[in-house]
Amino acid sequence: MHTSLVAALDIGGTKIAGALVDGDGALLLRAQRPTPAKEDAETVMGAVAAVLGDLAASPLWPGVVAVGIGSAGPVDRAAGTVSPVNVPGWRGFPLVERVSRAVGGLPVDLVGDGAAITAAEHWRGAARGFDNALCMVVSTGVGGGLVLEGRLHTGPSGNAGHIGHISVDLDGDLCPCGARGCVERIASGPNIARRALEQGWTPGPDGDATAAAVAASARAGDPV
Ligand SMILES: [Zn+2]
Repeated sequence: MHTSLVAALDIGGTKIAGALVDGDGALLLRAQRPTPAKEDAETVMGAVAAVLGDLAASPLWPGVVAVGIGSAGPVDRAAGTVSPVNVPGWRGFPLVERVSRAVGGLPVDLVGDGAAITAAEHWRGAARGFDNALCMVVSTGVGGGLVLEGRLHTGPSGNAGHIGHISVDLDGDLCPCGARGCVERIASGPNIARRALEQGWTPGPDGDATAAAVAASARAGDPV
């Protein structure tokens, strides 16, 4: 007998990841494609379909009963649409309908990626046992989500706790979202690297100029 599985999709500005997940939260199979973030809407959807195709090719697929999507925001949970700041080809893109069609009508649920990671941290990770938590994800962007009084709080649109586009420097750089000095414009992975380079940081001999390399330099005592 098949246990019930869920297919999970993580839609980001750099990669689109998928997995088959069992009732204990174990990832039984992973698939991944780069996000063609500068391309048109259908090209981006093609990458999502390719990830779903990889998962559907597995002998485990008949056990899948639903699809859960965490997407870079903003999302509109009620409408089932996404408009990721870092994927300009998708504005109000009907992701729930398109994924549902691709998987033969299985139920599909959508939240912002910050809410998704918060649900995971509360269930299986660092926020276990806490009734109130703010979890953050630092990646191509900065996302966040809230657990309040023991429950994931997504808000009506699925974006509650999205700390990445809170302005923390009112005269700061213009963010692609239209505001100035957003947390994301300062502290996302690419922006950590950009700001370090602007302030005179020199990457190591391997040329790695990512945020991970900035962090390694900081740990090694680089004052910038
Ligand atoms: Zn912003």
